[in-house]
Amino acid sequence: GLPVEKFSGSQLIQSEPDASSFPSGGMRTTFEARGYTGWDPTSPMFMMVTPNGRTLCIPSVFISYHGHALDEKTPLLRSVEALSTQAIQLLHQIGDTNVKRVMATLGAEQEYFLIDKAYYNLRPDLILTGRTLLGARPPKGQELEDHYFGAIPSRVQAFMQEVEFELYRLGVPAKTRHNEVAPAQFELAPIFEDANVSSDHNHLTMEVMKKVAERHNFALLLHEKPFAGINGSGKHNNWSIATDTGINLLDPGATPHQNLRFLVVLVSILKAVHKHNALLRASIASSGNDHRLGANEAPPAIMSVFLGEQLSMILNKIKSGESIANAERAMINLGVSKIPAVARDNTDRNRTSPFAFTGNKFEFRAVGSSASCAFPMTCLNAAVAEAMSEMSALIKQKVANSEGSDRDAAILELVRETVIATEAIRFEGNGYSPEWVVEAEKRGLAHLRNTPEALGAFTYPSTKSLFIEQNVLSDAEVHSRHHVNIERYLKKVEIEIDTMRTLVDSYVIPAVSTYLGDLAKSASSLAKITGVDKSTTENSVKKVAELLKETSDKRSAMESAYQATLSAGEEAKAKAFAERVLPTMHALRDVCDRLEVVVGNAYWPLPKYREMLFCY
Ligand code: ADP
Ligand code: MG
Repeated sequence: GLPVEKFSGSQLIQSEPDASSFPSGGMRTTFEARGYTGWDPTSPMFMMVTPNGRTLCIPSVFISYHGHALDEKTPLLRSVEALSTQAIQLLHQIGDTNVKRVMATLGAEQEYFLIDKAYYNLRPDLILTGRTLLGARPPKGQELEDHYFGAIPSRVQAFMQEVEFELYRLGVPAKTRHNEVAPAQFELAPIFEDANVSSDHNHLTMEVMKKVAERHNFALLLHEKPFAGINGSGKHNNWSIATDTGINLLDPGATPHQNLRFLVVLVSILKAVHKHNALLRASIASSGNDHRLGANEAPPAIMSVFLGEQLSMILNKIKSGESIANAERAMINLGVSKIPAVARDNTDRNRTSPFAFTGNKFEFRAVGSSASCAFPMTCLNAAVAEAMSEMSALIKQKVANSEGSDRDAAILELVRETVIATEAIRFEGNGYSPEWVVEAEKRGLAHLRNTPEALGAFTYPSTKSLFIEQNVLSDAEVHSRHHVNIERYLKKVEIEIDTMRTLVDSYVIPAVSTYLGDLAKSASSLAKITGVDKSTTENSVKKVAELLKETSDKRSAMESAYQATLSAGEEAKAKAFAERVLPTMHALRDVCDRLEVVVGNAYWPLPKYREMLFCY
């Protein structure tokens, strides 16, 4: 007469969900569709409290029957392992022999939009694609920059505080909250943690924010570009490397030895980003991020490293062979007696750089707001691990050749050579400028303008050997990821095209036709009344009728561009989507947006930008 409930510990450690509907990029056939989860004990488990109960959640890896990684976590863990192994070896080479473990650290600033749920529910495009496919620019956007420094609206403040409360309960160290540049855009930043834990925590953050938004009758938009014409959202991945002895390897330090270590680590990173700039670009590629990158608001689609004035000066001195004395941190004297001198920790900010040094860490700013931090971090860790292993080998060689002369001098000489070899990746200027595109091409940096182009980097021999040699992804796993990404791109764009059809056919055209009919009716009724000037109404009829015709033409153009891609193979189709179909969607949107501002407000069937962005 008593309930029997059995639950053994082994169920926590491993379980066997069906993986058949999980994308595998052709790695598995359905009959071998089993997948296994395995407990990742390095990331704390947590209790999800929901209205009718609690669920114990155990961060896990997800692997296939044949042991291939299906998830984002396994490669991330492997990359941290690789980074640790190679960094230890390098540190031992330069005399830091007590370090036994090294880890990557990550603090991800999360940008997002919040709009009223009622508007969201009336926008099929937001619901189905995460972004508005139509919508005229409101008379006021972000040009006054009054949102960024304004007070947080109280309804949003209530949401933020509840999010933080929920996050603390889950052990997520949320810290900073503020308004972002675009209207209705905000940011949350946590305190940094071990990269794997931090990446899990970012997933939780996105989940919790969505749930809490619901409770406050908000819709949370994590898409990289929910609204055209104003800034999109990113996820700035602040990243560094720390040792078990408590040292941040990107902290310049106060003694010559600490500085030498810093420089060796720094040039290893330059080497990594230089060699694998295309892969890093690919690691952040998605259909959503394509609308943001290079759009004069976010980093360009070209990877480069910004170091700031002071570090650049030091590297330039090293290059020219000038001796660098103890590279002390520059101090800014604020000139106000009560404020102490501030260590100038990040020289100046360059918001246009995708990969910027900010004092004691790098900030990878090109990551999309809806993306998992895991894969970009995996690529970065792996690339740096590879560079460090090469640096170790070179140091060994140099020291052997120098026959007992100064070891530090030999290492500094290698630093000098690496500074020279990686100069092309350093860029301190304006990443938004058209000149940079030309300059970057001269320097041989990859300029991969859209996702299908960027994903090609998965097939580079340098990418494959990186992943295989650092034990991060096998050949089959790289191949699978490449295809999963192409497939995801195709599906997302296809959903957008289909949603666009629906919006135009069942919202815009019927609304405009009704309006046009009513206008024409009033024109003819007015004609019956003597002495009334009906020219204004007649002109409106003509104008709307022309735009309606244009809409129908552009609608057909989109359809033919789409139909023309149907027989192409996956990769060619993705390329055609980016180069030929998306521009036709854009043109169709443009005419609909021109209609939106002339059709009677009462007739327009979709909530407008001014409502979604400014009404709380
Ligand atoms: P800003 O907007 O000026 O770049 P924020 O304070 O919003 O700065 O975000 C900085 C992020 O960097 C925070 O998440 C912080 O925890 C993280 N961070 C600081 N030091 C490190 C480090 N050594 N490794 C990784 N992340 C770090
Ligand atoms: Mg930042």
